[in-house]
Amino acid sequence: MIADKMKDLMANSSAIRAMFEEGKKMAEQYGAENVYDFSLGNPNVAPPEAVKEAIVEIAQTMDPIQLHGYMNNAGFESVRAAIAASLNKRFGTAFSENNILMTVGAAGGLNVILKTLVNPGDEVITFAPYFGEYANYVNNVNGVLVEAMTDRVTFQPDLDVLAKVITPRTRALIINNPNNPTGVVYPEETIEKLAALLEEKQRQLGTDIYLIADEPYRELVYDGAEVPYLTKYYKNTIVGYSYSKSLSLPGQRIGYLVIPDEAADGELIQQAASVANRVLGFVNAPSLQQLVVARCLGESTDVSYYDRNRKLLYKTLTDLGFSCIKPEGAFYLFVKSPVADEKEFCAHAKKYHLLLVPGSSFGGPGYVRLAYCVAYETIQRSIPAFEQLAKDYFGK
Ligand code: PLP
Repeated sequence: MIADKMKDLMANSSAIRAMFEEGKKMAEQYGAENVYDFSLGNPNVAPPEAVKEAIVEIAQTMDPIQLHGYMNNAGFESVRAAIAASLNKRFGTAFSENNILMTVGAAGGLNVILKTLVNPGDEVITFAPYFGEYANYVNNVNGVLVEAMTDRVTFQPDLDVLAKVITPRTRALIINNPNNPTGVVYPEETIEKLAALLEEKQRQLGTDIYLIADEPYRELVYDGAEVPYLTKYYKNTIVGYSYSKSLSLPGQRIGYLVIPDEAADGELIQQAASVANRVLGFVNAPSLQQLVVARCLGESTDVSYYDRNRKLLYKTLTDLGFSCIKPEGAFYLFVKSPVADEKEFCAHAKKYHLLLVPGSSFGGPGYVRLAYCVAYETIQRSIPAFEQLAKDYFGK
């Protein structure tokens, strides 16, 4: 018999799992080139050449005992120091290796920081729509995920809504900028207002409210959009970063947390997060990958690849009459379903071999998410299918 909590988790994840299985089945049945799978945020750009070179060089030159052995739970000091120096150069911060904790991707980092901060029953707020896994991560620590709905047109944070859901039990606010699933980027002006609101609430309530910045898409921005570095705006910020998208390494599971000294109980949180990394069973982030990313700090994925996809898919869908905002970051389009029940819309799209994810998986019912981190040719080939879909709903 499995645990009751696990039964709930399995029931909730079955929709996306079923789509994943169905996609595979459809590819076998119709040929992979005739299935247009926009469901997964799995980068279709190879990692930069420097990643392969670093892997080979490290494997050939480094002492294997040191390379493959256990280490400090926070990660190699040299790697953490190199990341701190790189952040300081890019963002004018003043971090040292003590502020960096290497993690098993952003997912590992979020679980570590929630384990570190959240008591059972504590509330963790996030702006909706949001990356659906947050609900599971908060559930892992018996916390309560509270959704703060964003503006229905722009998907920008609505600070009046946020102010209403902050309570004495609020431990943290998770913010994801650039955003999955909407593709929006929160500008500096919004971040300044958000920081001021959190400061005010902390004063009123006499509590510490931590801002957890989940930033796997930081470098994936278009049209010159800028993503503010949040530790500079709000003292109690903890940043979670990942190389899954920026270096196309999602299977390697590598990222880090930034825990500033200035955060309330900053040093205690650094020590506790290190223990959380161990007791959650991660122990430490993968050693080879830590060394690889430290050598690739100046590298980034080919953003122009995603930009080309973004432009084609956005133009195709809006020309056909579908409505969505033009994303400024990440690699997702969040499209309004032409019927109220977006699951019905997804089921209908599947008839044309289009795989889209219902917005309710992200706390955003009435919309569907398309991940455009696919081959450009897949988008080109999918256009007739979208045309058929548009005809069914808009009659043109
Ligand atoms: N946070 C967001 C918003 C994501 O979209 C993802 C993955 O898609 C993650 C976290 C998890 O990323 P990682 O592969 O680094 O664990």
